[in-house]
Parts: sequence; structure tokens; C-alpha cells
Amino acid sequence: MANVLVVEDDQFVRSALIRELSERSHTVRSASTALDALREVSQSAPDVVVLDLGLPDLDGAEVLKMLRAISDVPVVVATARDDETEIVRLLNAGADDYLVKPFSPEHLIARLTAVLRRSRQAAPPRACEVGGLRVDLEAREAYLDEARLDLTRREFDLLAHLAFRAGQVVSRRELLAEVWRQSYGDDQTIDVHLSWLRRKLGETASRPRYLHTVRGVGVKLLAPE
Ligand code: CA
Repeated sequence: MANVLVVEDDQFVRSALIRELSERSHTVRSASTALDALREVSQSAPDVVVLDLGLPDLDGAEVLKMLRAISDVPVVVATARDDETEIVRLLNAGADDYLVKPFSPEHLIARLTAVLRRSRQAAPPRACEVGGLRVDLEAREAYLDEARLDLTRREFDLLAHLAFRAGQVVSRRELLAEVWRQSYGDDQTIDVHLSWLRRKLGETASRPRYLHTVRGVGVKLLAPE
């Protein structure tokens, strides 16, 4: 199951693609022009784009280049031209795969599945280890020296955000935005959660092991020396 963006100006073809993909439980959005497609991708990236190259407003290779400038989303191009030079040019321009029109729904699904499988394999790691600390995003569990930490949802998110950026100073603004999903807020909220987290990690602000406050900047998670 994936979020698919279908970019196709032919209404008949577009409806058919949407129907076929929806029937296979994919979530489908669609666009009928290149500019609409670029807007859709920049607003919320789909898992994969099916891109018709014969769009009314922009040349297909041009669209591909613009898409690549804003996103790494996998793109399967659909072309009416079974022309090897053209296909090589598109693959070089950043297409992940191609389909020559007319194609069957089964063919489209097979290509999409392969592209999605490849892109998911290349997905960022879902677990990390820093010193004796291990954070597993998949299971939403964290361990310190093999002992499972009993964390609240927010504490886990905070720890995970810092652990995946170990060695970097993370600003309070970033923590608010990424962990609390707020654009502004009270520094005290973060401080309170950090102190709870420190207690669970068996450390204090004055004697830090993993969580280091960088005064006036933010927090940094490090493996203890
Ligand atoms: Ca077209």
C-alpha cells in the first residue's frame, strides 16, 4: 500500500489509473498538469509518482528535472514513444523506471511494486546505537545497557530525535518543531522532559553522561567517554 501521485492529462487514462490503483488499496492523488504535479509533490511527497511525459504545459524531461530539484520521490515515467534514446535520456534525468504506453494495469502495478521495494530498502535506518543506548523506532523501544527504558511517548520521541543525531547540537526550536510539533512554545516544557529523561538514563544535568546541554544553543546526545 502506497501513496501514489498520478500525473496524466488524459482524463480517460487518468481515471482508469486511479481506479486500478485504488482497487489495490493504494491511496491515489492526481494532477493533470506539470505545475499541479510539482505543487502536489512540494506540499506533501507521495511514495511514488507515475508521470505522463506528454503534458500540456511542460516537456516531460523538464518536469522530471524540476521534480528532482525538490524531491527524491521515485518516479515512473509513462511515455508514448518506444524510443531507446529517449528512455535512456529520461533514466539519466532521474526517472526510476518507465512504461511504454499503452500498458496494462498489471504491468504498471509490477513496476510500481519494484520501484517501491527499492526505495524502501534505501530508506533511512530504523534503529540506532550510541554507546550503551539503543533506540528502535519500529518497536518504539529504547534500551540502556540492555535494560528496557520505561519512557512516555514524548520522552521516547525526544530521546529518539537526539539519538539519531548523536554528536550534533539540536536546538530547542528544532525539538519543539519536530518532537512537540509546535512552532513556538515554552523552553520549560523541554527542560522538564529533559530532566525526566535524564533521571531515567541515570544521570543529572550537572553530571551528564549522554545528554549534554549546550548553553544558549540546545542539547547534544553523546556516547559517554
Ligand atoms: Ca498526455
